[in-house]
Amino acid sequence: MQSLPLRRGSKQKKAVLSAAKCLCNHPTAQEIYFKAREDILNISFSTVYRNLGILVEEGDLISITSAGSEVHYDHIVKNHCHIQCRSCGKVRDLDVPAVDFNGILPSDASGFTVDGVCVTFTGTCEECNSKMDTKGEQG
Ligand SMILES: [Zn+2]
Ligand SMILES: [Zn+2]
Repeated sequence: MQSLPLRRGSKQKKAVLSAAKCLCNHPTAQEIYFKAREDILNISFSTVYRNLGILVEEGDLISITSAGSEVHYDHIVKNHCHIQCRSCGKVRDLDVPAVDFNGILPSDASGFTVDGVCVTFTGTCEECNSKMDTKGEQG
């Protein structure tokens, strides 16, 4: 498996990665797509999406998934926690110590070899909170 070619599509991949970095606040594929189009006008959504998958696989991006929400992408690939707004779905970094999984043995993990951790807290963001404050008066 040594001839995985990087030649084709590597320009697109670069554009996708730099778009993700530029957007920085855990963008969705859609947001990355719009940003990448500033670079490559005719790039298609499926190309962006495919390259996002490759970048995640290669460890350049991490994907943040949660039930009922779009996938968000993060170019900060170190182990860190996220918080997601239940109302609008935005994802931000959470400044708490990340779970250290390095010491977890397969015997502690139902036989699994642990190679990653993905912690997403939920809450309501500032913006949505303030919207609720103003709306809350009427009821
Ligand atoms: Zn929100
Ligand atoms: Zn993050």
